[in-house]
Amino acid sequence: MNKFKEELIKGSLKLGIFLTEDMLELFYSHYQIMVEENNKYNLTAITSKLEAAEKHFVDSLLLLKEIEKYSYIFMVDIGSGAGFPGLPLKICRPENINLVLVDAVNKKVNFLKKVIAALKLEKTTAIHARAEEMAVDYREKFDVAVTRAVGELRLIAEYCLPLIKIGGIFIAAKGPNVKEEINNAANSIKTLGGKIIKVREEKLPISNEGRTIVTIEKIKGTPAKYPRRPGIPKKDPL
Ligand code: SAM
Repeated sequence: MNKFKEELIKGSLKLGIFLTEDMLELFYSHYQIMVEENNKYNLTAITSKLEAAEKHFVDSLLLLKEIEKYSYIFMVDIGSGAGFPGLPLKICRPENINLVLVDAVNKKVNFLKKVIAALKLEKTTAIHARAEEMAVDYREKFDVAVTRAVGELRLIAEYCLPLIKIGGIFIAAKGPNVKEEINNAANSIKTLGGKIIKVREEKLPISNEGRTIVTIEKIKGTPAKYPRRPGIPKKDPL
């Protein structure tokens, strides 16, 4: 068996996640297309089989615990880049997720479309948009928003909270040591109608690197003035 699949099996089993051969094949196809396209334009710095298996795919699956309780969700991945964490979650729970991947860079969106078509993923779309513009058509439409490596918590809260329904959740995949970042986001989260309901510290199962999964529930509607115009949330975070 190839090293990528071996590493993926090892890592996911340590998280208590069982992957079928069909899923492993889909993960591997996603990986192969990513490496191929990465030769033409920059998608990721992590390309070796072992590192990508853990730091992209297993890392994305860390969020599975947070969505396991739902039987069916409309989920958005904001700033999905090469498809993380949205695509691995979809591959792992194909029947339970209707997925929208969003990125501001068109090349990345074309890459995502290519992967969706190659893997024949149903109920999966990729949209070229800035997160701040998504609220025009998708305000309070999603059950769940996920995001990884797009910005600090107070910023991504403004990108994601307006898009989810009251009672829905926003799951931020973060690195280690995020206490201060969480404290700095208190005003933003409250203003946008959210409340932190869980902060789960994890270790990646092979490299032992620290990760934090922050879950925010939307408890009130987001005031209509948020999100602000593209670029403003980043320039002047709440
Ligand atoms: N989530 C992926 C991952 O973890 O591998 C990609 C992370 S990459 C560092 C950040 C991505 O967010 C980029 O693809 C970038 O184009 C996208 N991005 C940044 N700001 C954005 C915004 N306001 N709206 C949509 N996408 C954005």
